[in-house]
Amino acid sequence: MSPSNMLHGLAITALAAVAATATPVNAQSVNVYSSRHYDSDDVLYDAFTEKTGITVNRIEGGADELIARLDAEGDNSPADVFMAVDVGRMARAEEAGVLQPFDSEVIEARIPPHLRHPDDLWFGISQRARIVFYAKDRVDTPPRTYEELADPKWDDTICVRSSSNIYNQSLLASIIEVHGEEAARDWAAGIVENMARAPQGGDTDQLRGLVSGECDLAISNHYYFLRGFDTDVSGLSEDIDSIGWVWPNQGGRGAHVNLATAAMTAAAPNAENARKLLEFMTTETAQRHFAGQNNEYPAVPGVGLDEDTARLGLFIPDTRTNTAAFSRNAAKAQTIFNEVGWN
Ligand code: FE
Repeated sequence: MSPSNMLHGLAITALAAVAATATPVNAQSVNVYSSRHYDSDDVLYDAFTEKTGITVNRIEGGADELIARLDAEGDNSPADVFMAVDVGRMARAEEAGVLQPFDSEVIEARIPPHLRHPDDLWFGISQRARIVFYAKDRVDTPPRTYEELADPKWDDTICVRSSSNIYNQSLLASIIEVHGEEAARDWAAGIVENMARAPQGGDTDQLRGLVSGECDLAISNHYYFLRGFDTDVSGLSEDIDSIGWVWPNQGGRGAHVNLATAAMTAAAPNAENARKLLEFMTTETAQRHFAGQNNEYPAVPGVGLDEDTARLGLFIPDTRTNTAAFSRNAAKAQTIFNEVGWN
């Protein structure tokens, strides 16, 4: 357990107590339910408080846990803002009816349309790409597209985590959106055929498989690779130079991107303060902060990359497929995973 995870349990308890005693309507505060576990967010919120005089109360928890809490609290919820990683999870919040749409010219001007919910229920604050990594010593010409990964020539080479993970659900949902259900099923079946081993572990474990020689290709979110440079990740950092990466589909629709997201809750007793905080999240300061924490890409175009992320450079993201499609196709994706035996 990392120190930040250990703090996480304490943070919930301490901040839950704060929320329980907070007056729901308070002109000088805003309450955030967040499934982001970064204590450094406090630094950012302090800057917001300094600028606006509005205090930010942050309550952390797992996304599903917080959605259940919002649902149970209903109209009496003290929460104004909900933050979660992965659009698929925002879809669950949408289904539970715990979000409300809000219009903001600031957000519309700064966040590109494909990174926003079509009915303004949420928007992206940072972007993470799901891309292809390969063992440089065993692969001369890596696949250049997601589609190519399903080619029989890659038989027994691919490492990828379980389909129960939301990252893969969103990836397949994007393929359903682009190619239709039948072609997406064929693609998923092709990936299963080409797996080097049964799905196991998280994204870092797929990258470790490249180092250990179990896999020639791996599918992973980009920042797990960067963590191998930043911190000492056993089984990865020592041989990280043996791994190459491909930004997929650069000649076509672009690389699959998912989002860390923010939204206004349905109850939002401090709606005006929530709007101010949400708009603040699109400022250059906030964008650099959110992206820098996890080596992600800012959601606002033109905001510079942090030094570590710059290692991977710029890429063409898939801007044609609205990220909202990931949630729309999530159930279909799960059905396909079950049908093709991607466990
Ligand atoms: Fe992750």
